[in-house]
Amino acid sequence: MPAVAAGPEIERLIQLLARLPGLGPRSARRAALFLIKKRETLMAPLAAALQTAIEKIEVCRVCGNIDTQNPCTVCTDARRDPAAIVVVADVADLWALERARAINARYHVLGGTLSPLDGVGPDDLSIAALVKRAHDPAVNEIILALNATVDGQSTAHYITDLLHDAKVKVTRLAHGVPVGGELDYLDEGTLAAAIRSRTPF
Ligand code: ZN
Repeated sequence: MPAVAAGPEIERLIQLLARLPGLGPRSARRAALFLIKKRETLMAPLAAALQTAIEKIEVCRVCGNIDTQNPCTVCTDARRDPAAIVVVADVADLWALERARAINARYHVLGGTLSPLDGVGPDDLSIAALVKRAHDPAVNEIILALNATVDGQSTAHYITDLLHDAKVKVTRLAHGVPVGGELDYLDEGTLAAAIRSRTPF
């Protein structure tokens, strides 16, 4: 048994923090100590923000985004193009695209990607709801913004097959050279994809 340096309340705080992505037991201990030292200026507001989040955050019934209103801010924004739906695996991907101000469209969050190894099948994802949205006459493009991984791409193929009778154009993100990337440092798969996806200059 390792020596215990603090009471059960503090140990519990450390154990919970250690379950956050990117934090192991050591950084969780450091984070807990930091919070305790900043009890008034950080720990109390953080606890209040967590409580508010528990009470107010909902999953959008249209797109699967998370927000404090339902349907979410993105779905109810009249300035967004209603004709295009960007399909993402997770809310984090939606937020990343929004940070980049990449497109002024609506989204659809699948809740993951198909993964036979992890036991994730079509019924575990929000695929049926996407197919339904794609049949809305106002929608004319489905943009598959999925990871360039085996699971991401097999999910994209699966969805494309399901959408063959919807009157929509199905597109996917380009694969290729990242902005600022040097060719000599890229892997062969990325270079080959970049050549295949070349565009007129
Ligand atoms: Zn929404």
